Amino acid sequence: MNIGIDFDGTISDNPGFFRELAGALTGADNRIYIISSYTSADADRADAVAMEKRRMLREWGIRYSELELVGEPIPDNKAAYCKDHDIKLMIDDLEENLSRIRETAKGTVCLLYIGR
Ligand SMILES: [Mg+2]
Repeated sequence: MNIGIDFDGTISDNPGFFRELAGALTGADNRIYIISSYTSADADRADAVAMEKRRMLREWGIRYSELELVGEPIPDNKAAYCKDHDIKLMIDDLEENLSRIRETAKGTVCLLYIGR
């Protein structure tokens, strides 16, 4: 199963929880996709943003298969990524993203992360 998890406001809000979750979900047939984003203001430094996020994921000990950063419009691009990569479960802290994913990627179950 392909599992998508948002970074900002989700993993970054509770890295200890997501380290445990990612560890529990890591197995033969599961792939964990960290589906994050960058704003237009950061478009010229998207690679640096990705490097920094990889560094933080490593520091937190979070296991994953892929890190993807989508540009704006973020809800549309996250939805397209979920559809294209057959993401079966997506966890995100923004309802705006999840509602677009529900419209676009019919096979994706969406979970709203509310936090601690
Ligand atoms: Mg977020």
